[in-house]
Amino acid sequence: MTSQGIDTTITDRGADRLAPGPTELGDVLLPGDDGYDDASGAVFALGAPDVIVRPRDPGEIAAAIEYATGSCLDISVRAGGHSPAGLSTNTAGVLIDLSHFDRIVVLDRTARRVRIGAGATWGAVSDALAEHGWAITAGDTRSVGVGGLTLGGGIGWLVRKYGLAIDSVVAADVVLANGQLVRATVDENPDLFWALRGGGGNFGVVVSLDFIAQPITSVYYGSIAFALQDVPAMVAGWRDAMRAADENLTSTLVLMPPMMGRPAAAMVLCCYAEPDERAADAALEPLRALGSVVADTVRLMPYSQVLEDAHHPPGIRIVARNTLLPRLTDEVISGMARAFECEQMMLTLRSLGSAVARVRADATAYAHRASEGMLLAGIMLPMAATEAEIDQALSDWKPLAAQGSGPYINFQGSATPDDVAAAYPPETYQRLSLIKRRYDPENIFRRNHNVPPAAG
Ligand SMILES: Cc1cc2nc3c(=O)[nH]c(=O)nc-3n(C[C@H](O)[C@H](O)[C@H](O)COP(=O)(O)OP(=O)(O)OC[C@H]3O[C@@H](n4cnc5c(N)ncnc54)[C@H](O)[C@@H]3O)c2cc1C
Repeated sequence: MTSQGIDTTITDRGADRLAPGPTELGDVLLPGDDGYDDASGAVFALGAPDVIVRPRDPGEIAAAIEYATGSCLDISVRAGGHSPAGLSTNTAGVLIDLSHFDRIVVLDRTARRVRIGAGATWGAVSDALAEHGWAITAGDTRSVGVGGLTLGGGIGWLVRKYGLAIDSVVAADVVLANGQLVRATVDENPDLFWALRGGGGNFGVVVSLDFIAQPITSVYYGSIAFALQDVPAMVAGWRDAMRAADENLTSTLVLMPPMMGRPAAAMVLCCYAEPDERAADAALEPLRALGSVVADTVRLMPYSQVLEDAHHPPGIRIVARNTLLPRLTDEVISGMARAFECEQMMLTLRSLGSAVARVRADATAYAHRASEGMLLAGIMLPMAATEAEIDQALSDWKPLAAQGSGPYINFQGSATPDDVAAAYPPETYQRLSLIKRRYDPENIFRRNHNVPPAAG
């Protein structure tokens, strides 16, 4: 049965396996317990939850949900804890920490089908898959979680060849707001499966995701650093080079403002997804010609060494905003050059297109399939910056954001209703809100880039 194109049959795979109850919350940490202080905060937030729960099975997740809703407490769901909007924890609520859901299991060697616990990190995944000569295109950072990155979309170093992380997902196991454990695939609960691929943490607690891994062993990866002279010329050159590049090449242009005594600089990070030196050199040649090269670290390496550890500059608050760019026009490039002049904004341009664009815009909740790139601003402010100072700093970003088609939720450092509405085309947002009504009508999963349930 369908309503406005939405399948209305929820297929329940395991309600009988669950035994929810407030006494079965699994590992619990309370304020004052050893380990509570470390566990309560996250990369971008200092939290003070009433209870931190580390469930070991879906039944314990259901029990934690029941406990939280019965006690009228907010719920945060944490996988790797990297939400730039600080959503990985809360104050006076329940934090469901999925760090015990970190198993990586090969289900089918021939099909390269792998089940990955949502609490695993991408570093652990790339290490485990390397043993098989496989990889999954995901992010660029080892400690980022499978849960958060995948539910938002997942832009990684193989994105132009293999698409977003969600494009490799074939199934998800999810504990819903009512405690049911359900599976989502193209055949089972297909509306939920659609919504999970880009709709964030709105629809339940994802226990695990099944991916089809890609056969990848070694890639050419590294950075090419330039003396920064003419910002518009460099950005236009990067754009033209990436438009002409074969899809094995994914790259990111980084414009760094003067920082810690160092002058402004530019760098192109690149990954060529084949261990073919001649082809890699040919693809990289237009990038190397973008300016005067001061360092070049590109070399053949196992894909598992490509993901890096995150380094957050000490004493600096980074306010992250982004927009997806349908076209990197000359007007956008002039805007970037103007914004960069404020000297507190790091600008990062990630290449998209190719495999991302081959998926229909309405095939998943991530709808920005036609975007040429993603522009991310990391605005660097003192730790003690006030809201007024943040607003002032954002005034340099807003004209640029206005030229994009909306933010990618995973890199958006705020989660206001306006941010969320802007992240989805209206028809995608409406479809998400209808699915939300079906799976979480009370909006108990609201500490996320929240799509409230449709009325009625
Ligand atoms: C240093 C750094 C590097 C990054 N690099 C990339 C990159 O290369 N590519 C990219 O696409 N993104 C990247 N990101 C953005 C990243 O994808 C998001 O921050 C993502 O939300 C992080 O996932 P997490 O599991 O670590 O975070 P968490 O904070 O644990 O999760 C973020 C949100 O996702 C939801 N969530 C997480 N797990 C579940 C679950 N199992 N069930 C239901 N809801 C869940 C919750 O709403 C949670 O608040 C990066 C972020 C940082 C800080």
